[in-house]
Amino acid sequence: MAIFLKNGTYINPETLEFIKTGILVHEGENGKIEFVYKLPDKHQYQIIDCTGKYITQSFVCGHHHVYSALARGMRAPRKNPENFNEILKYVWWTLDKALDVEMIEASALYTAMASLKNGVTFVIDHHASPNAIGGSLEIIASAFEKVGASHLLCYEISDRDGTEKALEGLVETAEYLEENQGLVGLHASFTVSDDTLQKAVRLMKHNDTGIHVHVAEAESDQLHCMKNYGMRVVERLQKFGALDSPKTILGHCLHLSKNEKQIISQTPVWVVQNTESNLNNKVGFFNAAELGDNIMMGSDGMHSDMLRSAKAAFFVGQNFDTIGYESVYQRFRNADKYLNSNNFKGHGPNNLVVLDYDTPTPLNQGNFYGHFVFGIESKHVKNVISQGKLVVENGKILTVDEDKILAGAKVQAERLWAKMR
Ligand SMILES: [Zn+2]
Repeated sequence: MAIFLKNGTYINPETLEFIKTGILVHEGENGKIEFVYKLPDKHQYQIIDCTGKYITQSFVCGHHHVYSALARGMRAPRKNPENFNEILKYVWWTLDKALDVEMIEASALYTAMASLKNGVTFVIDHHASPNAIGGSLEIIASAFEKVGASHLLCYEISDRDGTEKALEGLVETAEYLEENQGLVGLHASFTVSDDTLQKAVRLMKHNDTGIHVHVAEAESDQLHCMKNYGMRVVERLQKFGALDSPKTILGHCLHLSKNEKQIISQTPVWVVQNTESNLNNKVGFFNAAELGDNIMMGSDGMHSDMLRSAKAAFFVGQNFDTIGYESVYQRFRNADKYLNSNNFKGHGPNNLVVLDYDTPTPLNQGNFYGHFVFGIESKHVKNVISQGKLVVENGKILTVDEDKILAGAKVQAERLWAKMR
């Protein structure tokens, strides 16, 4: 049933124009919305009273890791990591090797639920489960669809566990892309051989899609590349054709030379920044200078709250980045541009959030950015509409039993932690 949002104020996500109106929301992958002042036939619509509320396009996470959902609260690793490579080895590569299909499903159900509750209806995910590769993307896709979130998935192909696992990752990707929209995931330059990189780009071109890869997250990625291939990471990716696609996503991009920045700004690729993760891993600070305009935001698996990511990027960026009031909002919204200009399905105008935003000061088109940085938070997300369907009402998920999924996730978290001993 189509939805009628009654008496709200629509904020145009691009122009920030405020329109006091009723909105008819149609269901479907890239369904439309219509501004109407009088409802034609009330029996045909699910009516939601939005008096005093703001309505705008829902949000996108440009880089997530479903696989990390069950990490919260787990005990310290057997060795205290002293650098980024040790964080990977002792934390994430220990965790992802222990994942099985039940744990992946629980992680995906929770991530989809958490995302929607924060107004994020579309997640671009980068998945790894080296001992449960085959079918993993389909499990995540089904879980997301069950909860009502849209997705653009990939498997993190890597030689870090040997060439056989790299091949399994390629096969999983090829099979998934036959039926679904998705990307070709690569872990990072330092864990991907020339042979695997070549095969991944071939797969990318065959499916007319892009690569999704971590780039220069730590200086060690660059040192490895220089030592083994005599060039820098972005140069290596360009040499193999990974940067030819406007669907390609480069995660982090912290340690780049002038030439690498120039390459990125002159190719159609997208960069995704993940401020809180960078702070947590102590790997450096993102700076958009000379990178061009194709920059979006992700959470890197830390959480599913993009309003929080935007605030972190803004405040950290005051010291280290070119970010300002307008550009923090642009970067927050750029994933819309990435998805729509590349014709990905699932982020049409019928994806909306209804914000119950109380403010002691006036809010309008002219001062929206100030409210975006200092005021609007995920706690203001009241209702969420995904592909034209109401999926969150008064902060509660409607599509699945929230308590049951949380209880199931706890069981899987305990299994995972026991396996990691
Ligand atoms: Zn990541």
